[in-house]
Amino acid sequence: MNKDILYNKKDRKILKKELAAESFNRITCSFYRYVAIENPSLSRDTLYKEWNQLQIFGRVYISHEGINAQVSCPEHKWNSFIKSINSYDAFKGIPVKRAVRDGRSFYKLVIKVKKEIVAYKISDEDYDMGSVGSHLNAQEFNDRLEKENAIAVDMRNYYESEVGKFEEAIIPDVDTSRELLPAVKKMLNGRESDPILLYCTGGIRCEKASSYLIKNGFKNVSQLNGGIIQYAHEVQEKGIRSKFRGKNFVFDERMGESITDDVIGKCHQCNTPADSHIDCGNDACHILFIQCKKCNTTYDGCCSKECKEFASLPIEEQRVLRKDPQKVVSKSRYSSKIKPKLRELRN
Ligand SMILES: [Zn+2]
Ligand SMILES: [Zn+2]
Repeated sequence: MNKDILYNKKDRKILKKELAAESFNRITCSFYRYVAIENPSLSRDTLYKEWNQLQIFGRVYISHEGINAQVSCPEHKWNSFIKSINSYDAFKGIPVKRAVRDGRSFYKLVIKVKKEIVAYKISDEDYDMGSVGSHLNAQEFNDRLEKENAIAVDMRNYYESEVGKFEEAIIPDVDTSRELLPAVKKMLNGRESDPILLYCTGGIRCEKASSYLIKNGFKNVSQLNGGIIQYAHEVQEKGIRSKFRGKNFVFDERMGESITDDVIGKCHQCNTPADSHIDCGNDACHILFIQCKKCNTTYDGCCSKECKEFASLPIEEQRVLRKDPQKVVSKSRYSSKIKPKLRELRN
């Protein structure tokens, strides 16, 4: 097959311009399923060709264990897209969740073959997808939260819960999905019989996480069906009180969708209330952090004075400096890629 039609190699700036010039609206949505896929590479190429033609943008992971997709679809292609998804036996009837807020989310289509659709890096003996936590809708989840000894666990990464979370949820202090499950197991040590309530963005992480906890001796594990996205829809439609406060972090250009108006995050630079994740404007850094409007101006959208200075150099000079590890100003200064200790760095 001609590789050119299977990958988008255009420059990011051009793609963003094309997206901005589109004359139609896009629907942002997500879906996943744990299902055996025999030949993920072949499925990947087939889906890419088909969805590229439908002008689908977004990020899709395919593996032997299933599919995980966050995409945007032109409004007028929506029915064709749903038809396309359902034309595959493995994906027939898959629940497609529309985003709480639309908006320009992705600017190209990326479909990757992965080992796991959620990279927990746990061994096959540590979970069994035939036994997962019971699925709760919004009202049931709210009710269960009130139960004695109930304990809600945020299964997302730390930086996601910094801008929005369920009241009183436990936030595991880890940087990557890989460290998450062992950390959660440790935190819940001794609570094997208590009601454990798991939640994540769209539900996919809880499927496997609940299976892992059950396999590790937890007896009362349930999960928020369809994740925060589905919860937000139900809260809106049924007039239920939202126990989730703040923003639902999403991995696309929007960086988050507000569920309630609460601003629960803090600017990583000056500590005032803020809930906007920023990608450091220094191309050699690109660290993800929370920044208030004022600091955004002061630091030119960068994570530090050093990055601001580096980013303001002529691009040619930056290129030369980037070759020298002593002179480049990059995120390697941080002990963690996604949770920079910016204030400590400054002092
Ligand atoms: Zn600030
Ligand atoms: Zn930076």
